[in-house]
Amino acid sequence: MNIRNLFFLFIITVMMASCNNDTTGSEDTAPPAPTKTVPVPRFDRDSAFVYVEKQLSFGPRALGTEGHQACKEWLVNSLTGFGATVIEQDFTAEVYTGASYPATNIIGQYNPDSKNRVVLAAHWDTRHIADSDLSTERRDEPIPGADDGASGVAVLLEIARQLGQNPLDLGVDIIFFDAEDYGHDTKDDEQITQAEQEARANTWALGAQYWANNLHRPKKDFDYGILLDMVGAEGARFPKEGWSMYYAKAIVNKVWSLADKMGYGNYFVNQQDQGGVTDDHYFVNKIAGIKMIDIIHKPQKSETGFGPHWHTHNDDIDIIDSRTLRAVGQLVLAVVYRENNGQM
Ligand SMILES: [Zn+2]
Repeated sequence: MNIRNLFFLFIITVMMASCNNDTTGSEDTAPPAPTKTVPVPRFDRDSAFVYVEKQLSFGPRALGTEGHQACKEWLVNSLTGFGATVIEQDFTAEVYTGASYPATNIIGQYNPDSKNRVVLAAHWDTRHIADSDLSTERRDEPIPGADDGASGVAVLLEIARQLGQNPLDLGVDIIFFDAEDYGHDTKDDEQITQAEQEARANTWALGAQYWANNLHRPKKDFDYGILLDMVGAEGARFPKEGWSMYYAKAIVNKVWSLADKMGYGNYFVNQQDQGGVTDDHYFVNKIAGIKMIDIIHKPQKSETGFGPHWHTHNDDIDIIDSRTLRAVGQLVLAVVYRENNGQM
């Protein structure tokens, strides 16, 4: 994602209230089957850390690389092995350079028959260049993407493993979006028009845009979604991201409130971020009208808006702290199981 497409947000609470679509189809007259209460499983941080390492072992997963293809097969096989019904949603990513690449959103469905569903998402591709303003070496080479890419996928794989072992009545769709990170960034010293800035925003998150325009099931089946992006760095800080607050404030607040109760308030700080990040969730909200929030690392002080390793070759395994993976993973597991149990 990129940060320079900052849209300062003026939240109008009246507008938010009118956007609430929590009440879903009332056509069904049969009473819902009673839901079995399932305890929240324990998130295994060592398992998640190994999933980060495994993704790095393929090399960079930028579009068009061998690592991208190899990682795709591993992700499909892993989700299948964890009991998900997997859809490979293929599309062509036409990137800002003029090139085209084969790309795939990987969707792992749990309880495909349920019409009461939560989406958990992360991007699985990695940046093709190290073009952060802070990047000092090999700027035209793809980055490892341990935090930016692999961390979110790793947390969701561990959640998938737990879903396989601890079945729910709730429907869950785990979506690994492709082609998030091949966007056209804007440099500090570059002067561009507002129109060009908006055009560049649309060069990011191509997989999420494709999915939002080609949902794998009816929109009304999706209650809401949670996106994970850069959720593995030591001492990560997750403020309430701008677009998430704009489109899905009530969901942000209930997730952050649960984080506080669980003792993760040091990660999930009760502060709203000043801008919105052009990330997958932005397009899911804007195009599909499905509420999706973003859990994303935004340090208090930063020259780029993200961690100093962002879009540099320092985004490697040394950045990853399994305690951060656990905080995020245990929280998201709790959200999903509590939703199933009617406790959210
Ligand atoms: Zn990125």
